[in-house]
Amino acid sequence: MNFLNKSDSDKKFQLKLDSLIEIMKNTGFLKESKVESAFRKIPRHYFVPESMQDQAYENEPILILQNQTISQPSVVSRMTEWLDLREGQKVLEIGSGSGWQSSILGNLVGNGKIFTVERHAKLASFAKDNLKRLGIKNVKIIHGDGRIGLPEESPFDRIMITAACREVPSKLLDQLALDGLLIAPVGENIQSLTVLKKTQTGIIEIKNQKGYVFVPLL
Ligand code: SAH
Repeated sequence: MNFLNKSDSDKKFQLKLDSLIEIMKNTGFLKESKVESAFRKIPRHYFVPESMQDQAYENEPILILQNQTISQPSVVSRMTEWLDLREGQKVLEIGSGSGWQSSILGNLVGNGKIFTVERHAKLASFAKDNLKRLGIKNVKIIHGDGRIGLPEESPFDRIMITAACREVPSKLLDQLALDGLLIAPVGENIQSLTVLKKTQTGIIEIKNQKGYVFVPLL
């Protein structure tokens, strides 16, 4: 589905989306037009419980199920931009939640593919339903423990962890392709958004920004 070909029930969200995008641009969290386009094509109100739809375009995390949250839009935008995706890439996300972030990644890789792992069965099926309603075909949701990753599908060009980890699980670094990037919020109470790159000589940190708060990777 394309939000631009919206139904009547979607139209009331258009102005709210426009103003959210304006806020994200003005605060420097949304810089790339292709990411803006993905935000417009993957409407966030499809990924929150019906009772929360009116809040879907506020720049806040929202409780979904099992005490978990859909991430704040500006954080999704920043993480997506920092992951520096290309068409055709194979990507692993840890922490499917609502499926919104993985759908945005899916939009950006075109004929590439997203694998996303979620530990809560109920959330995995919530995310599957959300993707189905939007007809998204290049995102696969797997119920399991994301700390183990998905060795059978590795290597991945990109890996995104959307839950806070004390340190990046080494198994995930093993599954990253050479020259691949991994982004994760690292830390205990407050996390640093960290981008790592796998090089010939080992893992190097290429970006790090303090002050983020995610639900924990368990
Ligand atoms: N990316 C999501 C939001 C993620 S919230 C979205 O777009 O909505 C973090 C998610 O990580 C939660 O759903 C939580 O259940 C999941 N999680 C926590 N620990 C995990 C683990 N070990 N393996 C897989 N998922 C995990």
